Amino acid sequence: MKFIKNRYPLPESILVIATCLYLIATFTACNPKGNNNTAEGKLKIVTTTGMIKDAVQNIVQDKADVAALMGAGVDPHLYKASQNDLNLLSNADMVFYNGLFLEGKMEDILEKLARQKPVFAVSAGIDNALFLTLTGKTATDDKHAYDPHIWFDVSLWAKAVTQISKHLQEKDPENAAFYRANEAAYLQQLASLHEEVKQQIAGIPKEQRLLITSHDAFNYFGRAYNIEVKGLQGISTVIEFGLKDITDMVELISSRKVKAVFVESSVPAKPLEAVVAGCNERGHRVSIGGTLFSDAMGQDGTPEGTYIGMVKANVHNIVQALK
Ligand SMILES: [Zn+2]
Repeated sequence: MKFIKNRYPLPESILVIATCLYLIATFTACNPKGNNNTAEGKLKIVTTTGMIKDAVQNIVQDKADVAALMGAGVDPHLYKASQNDLNLLSNADMVFYNGLFLEGKMEDILEKLARQKPVFAVSAGIDNALFLTLTGKTATDDKHAYDPHIWFDVSLWAKAVTQISKHLQEKDPENAAFYRANEAAYLQQLASLHEEVKQQIAGIPKEQRLLITSHDAFNYFGRAYNIEVKGLQGISTVIEFGLKDITDMVELISSRKVKAVFVESSVPAKPLEAVVAGCNERGHRVSIGGTLFSDAMGQDGTPEGTYIGMVKANVHNIVQALK
């Protein structure tokens, strides 16, 4: 409104008509910039997780509006789309999600939406041989065969970033060179982050390199950075855990003399607290080594609210508590 007022200093009634005409014109025809069909000429991109939003944001910078459905502390395995999410998705020009059944309760909506607009799983297009298969599954099983937590191996996440960039360049060729340059710069940052994590984790003495968390999110992290990982709950937080899981975990922690276990920002801490209490009863003192960001990043505007910041915060916590 303000924008139009400045450009067309007209009486109020004409202004309303002018506004309507302006809006009709921008929605029905290509806008003057010619790249996309939103009022501001910017692509409207919606992502499921914050990690994907951050990757998209690094590539598009100010050329698109990017929104994530799942904020800090939100568990993607359990997440159901709200009415507001559905509105955002239906107004979006492009949608990115993780795939590999991470967004288990949104899969149907996303698949339906893919018939109407560009909807991409960032894991699609990556060589399946790089994915970990779930216990008891083989690669030939189906999309439910793979571990979805691909962002925990920074070098694997870099491949998702490349996929995102490819789709953005195709959708918005006018800005393709800009996206390619931003992608290259971001991939460089990720490459040095990957090396940094490797070095940091290697600094933990081998026998203490055991990472125990609330759920099985860290298997890619374990593979990439040579640290053994165990989650109390399974790959998806949908799967219930029983008393036996807790007693097994107490046994493992006590026998290996593990110093610390880690709760996660997107998973309730109670079950792991029961494990800690169980260990203490057996005379093995174990502490909660802090909160890790597993399936969601930190709050917007904090260092942990970015992918790189989230990885660094996790590694810092792990090294401090286990070393
Ligand atoms: Zn998870």
